[in-house]
Amino acid sequence: MTDQQHCPGFESNKSLSAIKVACPACKAEMEMFSDEIDKKATCPKCKATFDPKSCKVSGQ
Ligand SMILES: [Zn+2]
Repeated sequence: MTDQQHCPGFESNKSLSAIKVACPACKAEMEMFSDEIDKKATCPKCKATFDPKSCKVSGQ
């Protein structure tokens, strides 16, 4: 697991929260900010586009 809980500069965006999503195509997990959740996400690994709202990783 390569979780980066603390990103430099993240403190300055307190209105945003990081949401973990998983690519439905290749299951790669990634984090995106809450203001990006309404847009289409593009998987950095397989380049698939998906709706992050329906691909949230639950459990945290
Ligand atoms: Zn993918």
